[in-house]
Amino acid sequence: MALGDPSLTVAYWSRDAAAYVDDHGRAVTRWSFSDEVDARMFRRAMVELARLQRAAGAKEIITFFQTQPPSWREGEDFDAFLAEIEAGSLEANDIAAFTAHQMGSCRMGSDPQAVVDTELRVHGISGLRVADASVMPTLIGGNTNAPTIMIGEKAADMIKAEMRAG
Ligand SMILES: Cc1cc2nc3c(=O)[nH]c(=O)nc-3n(C[C@H](O)[C@H](O)[C@H](O)COP(=O)(O)OP(=O)(O)OC[C@H]3O[C@@H](n4cnc5c(N)ncnc54)[C@H](O)[C@@H]3O)c2cc1C
Repeated sequence: MALGDPSLTVAYWSRDAAAYVDDHGRAVTRWSFSDEVDARMFRRAMVELARLQRAAGAKEIITFFQTQPPSWREGEDFDAFLAEIEAGSLEANDIAAFTAHQMGSCRMGSDPQAVVDTELRVHGISGLRVADASVMPTLIGGNTNAPTIMIGEKAADMIKAEMRAG
Protein backbone atom coordinates (compact mmCIF):
# COMPACT_ATOMS: atom_id res chain seq x y z
CA MET A 1 0.00 0.00 0.00
CA ALA A 2 1.35 3.47 -0.90
CA LEU A 3 2.19 5.80 1.97
CA GLY A 4 0.31 8.79 0.54
CA ASP A 5 1.61 12.29 1.14
CA PRO A 6 1.87 13.03 4.87
CA SER A 7 1.63 16.66 5.98
CA LEU A 8 3.52 15.96 9.19
CA THR A 9 5.41 12.73 9.80
CA VAL A 10 5.45 11.73 13.47
CA ALA A 11 7.39 8.51 13.07
CA TYR A 12 8.77 6.65 10.11
CA TRP A 13 10.14 3.20 10.74
CA SER A 14 10.46 1.56 7.36
CA ARG A 15 9.25 1.80 3.77
CA ASP A 16 5.79 0.51 4.67
CA ALA A 17 5.33 1.76 8.26
CA ALA A 18 4.72 5.34 9.41
CA ALA A 19 2.59 7.57 11.64
CA TYR A 20 1.66 11.00 10.36
CA VAL A 21 -0.96 13.74 10.19
CA ASP A 22 -2.61 14.00 6.76
CA ASP A 23 -3.71 17.11 4.84
CA HIS A 24 -7.04 17.10 6.74
CA GLY A 25 -5.33 17.07 10.14
CA ARG A 26 -6.23 13.42 10.79
CA ALA A 27 -3.81 11.02 12.45
CA VAL A 28 -2.86 8.16 10.13
CA THR A 29 -0.94 5.10 11.23
CA ARG A 30 0.40 2.64 8.70
CA TRP A 31 2.35 -0.47 9.32
CA SER A 32 2.73 -3.80 7.66
CA PHE A 33 3.37 -7.27 8.99
CA SER A 34 5.73 -7.90 6.11
CA ASP A 35 7.80 -10.09 8.42
CA GLU A 36 6.20 -13.55 8.55
CA VAL A 37 7.54 -14.25 12.06
CA ASP A 38 6.05 -10.97 13.39
CA ALA A 39 2.67 -11.83 11.89
CA ARG A 40 2.73 -15.37 13.30
CA MET A 41 3.74 -14.13 16.77
CA PHE A 42 1.02 -11.46 16.73
CA ARG A 43 -1.71 -13.98 15.83
CA ARG A 44 -0.41 -16.47 18.40
CA ALA A 45 -0.41 -13.75 21.08
CA MET A 46 -4.05 -12.88 20.34
CA VAL A 47 -5.08 -16.53 20.50
CA GLU A 48 -3.22 -17.14 23.77
CA LEU A 49 -4.66 -13.93 25.22
CA ALA A 50 -8.19 -15.12 24.40
CA ARG A 51 -7.42 -18.48 26.07
CA LEU A 52 -6.08 -16.68 29.16
CA GLN A 53 -9.14 -14.44 29.37
CA ARG A 54 -11.49 -17.41 29.09
CA ALA A 55 -9.54 -19.35 31.73
CA ALA A 56 -9.79 -16.28 33.99
CA GLY A 57 -13.58 -16.41 33.71
CA ALA A 58 -14.40 -13.99 30.88
CA LYS A 59 -18.03 -14.24 29.77
CA GLU A 60 -17.40 -12.23 26.63
CA ILE A 61 -14.24 -11.51 24.63
CA ILE A 62 -13.89 -8.86 21.95
CA THR A 63 -11.08 -8.27 19.48
CA PHE A 64 -9.62 -5.18 17.89
CA PHE A 65 -10.13 -6.12 14.26
CA GLN A 66 -11.75 -3.09 12.66
CA THR A 67 -14.02 -4.76 10.09
CA GLN A 68 -16.58 -7.28 11.43
CA PRO A 69 -14.45 -7.97 14.52
CA PRO A 70 -14.83 -11.53 15.79
CA SER A 71 -16.15 -11.79 19.33
CA TRP A 72 -17.13 -14.61 21.65
CA ARG A 73 -19.75 -15.04 24.37
CA GLU A 74 -20.01 -17.81 26.92
CA GLY A 75 -21.71 -20.84 25.33
CA GLU A 76 -20.50 -20.07 21.80
CA ASP A 77 -17.95 -22.15 19.87
CA PHE A 78 -14.59 -21.06 21.32
CA ASP A 79 -12.45 -22.93 18.76
CA ALA A 80 -14.32 -21.26 15.91
CA PHE A 81 -13.61 -17.91 17.57
CA LEU A 82 -9.88 -18.73 17.76
CA ALA A 83 -9.94 -19.76 14.08
CA GLU A 84 -11.51 -16.38 13.22
CA ILE A 85 -8.71 -14.61 15.08
CA GLU A 86 -6.13 -16.68 13.19
CA ALA A 87 -7.74 -15.75 9.87
CA GLY A 88 -8.21 -12.02 10.60
CA SER A 89 -6.52 -9.44 8.39
CA LEU A 90 -3.40 -7.75 9.77
CA GLU A 91 -3.31 -5.20 6.95
CA ALA A 92 -2.75 -1.57 7.92
CA ASN A 93 -5.78 -0.08 9.71
CA ASP A 94 -7.60 -3.46 9.73
CA ILE A 95 -6.60 -4.02 13.37
CA ALA A 96 -5.85 -1.73 16.29
CA ALA A 97 -3.03 -2.49 18.72
CA PHE A 98 -1.93 -0.91 21.95
CA THR A 99 0.41 -1.62 24.83
CA ALA A 100 -0.06 -1.12 28.55
CA HIS A 101 2.19 -0.47 31.52
CA GLN A 102 1.30 -3.17 33.99
CA MET A 103 1.82 -2.23 37.63
CA GLY A 104 0.39 -2.38 41.13
CA SER A 105 -0.31 -6.11 41.51
CA CYS A 106 1.70 -6.21 44.81
CA ARG A 107 1.00 -2.67 45.88
CA MET A 108 2.66 -0.91 48.78
CA GLY A 109 0.50 0.12 51.74
CA SER A 110 -0.69 -0.69 55.23
CA ASP A 111 -4.30 -1.73 54.54
CA PRO A 112 -5.33 -5.42 54.39
CA GLN A 113 -5.14 -5.50 50.57
CA ALA A 114 -1.57 -4.14 50.45
CA VAL A 115 1.25 -6.63 49.82
CA VAL A 116 4.42 -4.76 50.80
CA ASP A 117 5.26 -2.13 53.42
CA THR A 118 7.12 1.14 52.81
CA GLU A 119 10.44 -0.73 52.79
CA LEU A 120 9.17 -3.22 50.16
CA ARG A 121 8.94 -6.08 52.70
CA VAL A 122 6.07 -8.50 52.10
CA HIS A 123 3.59 -8.24 54.97
CA GLY A 124 3.69 -11.30 57.19
CA ILE A 125 6.68 -12.99 55.50
CA SER A 126 10.15 -12.26 56.82
CA GLY A 127 13.13 -12.02 54.47
CA LEU A 128 11.07 -11.39 51.32
CA ARG A 129 10.99 -8.12 49.39
CA VAL A 130 9.36 -7.15 46.10
CA ALA A 131 11.19 -4.55 44.00
CA ASP A 132 9.49 -3.92 40.67
CA ALA A 133 6.59 -2.06 39.07
CA SER A 134 4.12 -4.24 40.95
CA VAL A 135 4.69 -2.31 44.22
CA MET A 136 3.42 0.99 42.78
CA PRO A 137 0.33 1.82 44.87
CA THR A 138 -1.49 3.74 42.12
CA LEU A 139 -1.18 4.31 38.40
CA ILE A 140 1.65 6.75 37.83
CA GLY A 141 1.26 9.66 35.44
CA GLY A 142 4.24 8.86 33.25
CA ASN A 143 6.41 6.12 31.87
CA THR A 144 7.23 3.27 34.19
CA ASN A 145 10.70 2.06 33.25
CA ALA A 146 12.80 4.73 35.03
CA PRO A 147 10.66 4.68 38.24
CA THR A 148 10.96 0.87 38.25
CA ILE A 149 14.77 1.10 38.02
CA MET A 150 14.63 3.62 40.88
CA ILE A 151 12.54 1.21 42.98
CA GLY A 152 15.21 -1.46 42.37
CA GLU A 153 18.02 0.88 43.38
CA LYS A 154 16.15 2.03 46.47
CA ALA A 155 15.56 -1.61 47.43
CA ALA A 156 19.29 -2.35 47.05
CA ASP A 157 20.13 0.64 49.28
CA MET A 158 17.67 -0.48 51.96
CA ILE A 159 18.98 -4.06 51.91
CA LYS A 160 22.62 -2.84 52.16
CA ALA A 161 21.71 -0.48 55.04
CA GLU A 162 19.96 -3.32 56.85
CA MET A 163 22.99 -5.62 56.39
CA ARG A 164 25.40 -2.92 57.61
CA ALA A 165 23.23 -2.40 60.69
CA GLY A 166 23.53 -6.18 61.30
C1 LIG B 1 5.75 -2.97 24.69
C2 LIG B 1 6.20 -2.18 25.91
C3 LIG B 1 6.75 -0.93 25.72
C4 LIG B 1 7.19 -0.20 26.82
N1 LIG B 1 7.72 1.04 26.61
C5 LIG B 1 8.14 1.77 27.63
C6 LIG B 1 8.73 3.05 27.42
O1 LIG B 1 8.89 3.53 26.29
N2 LIG B 1 9.13 3.76 28.51
C7 LIG B 1 8.97 3.30 29.78
O2 LIG B 1 9.36 4.00 30.73
N3 LIG B 1 8.44 2.08 30.01
C8 LIG B 1 8.01 1.31 28.97
N4 LIG B 1 7.46 0.06 29.19
C9 LIG B 1 7.26 -0.38 30.57
C10 LIG B 1 8.51 -0.94 31.22
O3 LIG B 1 9.14 -1.84 30.31
C11 LIG B 1 8.06 -1.68 32.49
O4 LIG B 1 7.34 -0.80 33.33
C12 LIG B 1 9.21 -2.23 33.31
O5 LIG B 1 10.02 -3.06 32.50
C13 LIG B 1 8.65 -3.01 34.47
O6 LIG B 1 9.72 -3.67 35.11
P1 LIG B 1 9.46 -4.92 36.05
O7 LIG B 1 10.80 -5.24 36.65
O8 LIG B 1 8.32 -4.65 36.95
O9 LIG B 1 8.98 -6.08 35.05
P2 LIG B 1 9.78 -6.74 33.82
O10 LIG B 1 10.70 -5.79 33.17
O11 LIG B 1 8.70 -7.38 33.00
O12 LIG B 1 10.66 -7.85 34.54
C14 LIG B 1 10.11 -9.04 35.06
C15 LIG B 1 11.19 -10.10 34.95
O13 LIG B 1 10.78 -11.24 35.67
C16 LIG B 1 11.04 -12.37 34.89
N5 LIG B 1 10.11 -13.41 35.32
C17 LIG B 1 8.77 -13.46 35.14
N6 LIG B 1 8.26 -14.54 35.70
C18 LIG B 1 9.31 -15.20 36.25
C19 LIG B 1 9.41 -16.40 36.99
N7 LIG B 1 8.36 -17.14 37.30
N8 LIG B 1 10.63 -16.76 37.41
C20 LIG B 1 11.71 -16.03 37.14
N9 LIG B 1 11.67 -14.87 36.45
C21 LIG B 1 10.49 -14.47 36.02
C22 LIG B 1 10.83 -11.96 33.47
O14 LIG B 1 11.52 -12.80 32.57
C23 LIG B 1 11.43 -10.55 33.51
O15 LIG B 1 12.82 -10.54 33.26
C24 LIG B 1 7.04 -0.71 28.12
C25 LIG B 1 6.50 -1.99 28.30
C26 LIG B 1 6.08 -2.71 27.20
C27 LIG B 1 5.50 -4.09 27.41
